[in-house]
Amino acid sequence: MLTRKQHTAARDRAAAMMRRAGVRLTEREVEQMDVADFGLDRLGVEGAQIVSFFNTERVSAKVIALFPEQTLPEHWHTAVGEDPGKEETIRVIDGTAYVYVPGEETVAYGHVPAGKGDCYTVRHEVVMRPGDQLTLQPGVKHWFQAGGAGAVMYSFSSAARCALDPFSDPAIVRVTRIAEDARHD
Ligand code: ZN
Repeated sequence: MLTRKQHTAARDRAAAMMRRAGVRLTEREVEQMDVADFGLDRLGVEGAQIVSFFNTERVSAKVIALFPEQTLPEHWHTAVGEDPGKEETIRVIDGTAYVYVPGEETVAYGHVPAGKGDCYTVRHEVVMRPGDQLTLQPGVKHWFQAGGAGAVMYSFSSAARCALDPFSDPAIVRVTRIAEDARHD
């Protein structure tokens, strides 16, 4: 759960990062940004800030900002009905992002969040800088972590059904809850 203050501060910080990266955002898009703490109550360690430009029945485009060393937890995109699952291309446009996929363990620049070894099972590190992109096929586990200066990336994909995506961490709740600040606050 995030407080309203935490939510607003993260949203505004992420919007500034996205704009610095050259993304034009409307005020409405900023207001509707998904500040995701994944129900883990430590947004700066495990979390993500996501603006969805559109998500039709077939195609989706988003921009994701990660604060310095913030980690978007390990997940994968499963089949839903006739849909084989989301195919996603990540393109970094500012900062450095470490993307982790199945393969030989090569974690070097990033790190598995402390105490969460069980929840981060794929550990092949891909270092991505502006202009680098990577396509993730449906069903392939992945997680992201920003380098020390944060990261901004586009996510282009087939239709996103994020609320249904499985995460490796059983404690994760995908829909962020926001607590209104106490009146005396
Ligand atoms: Zn994904």
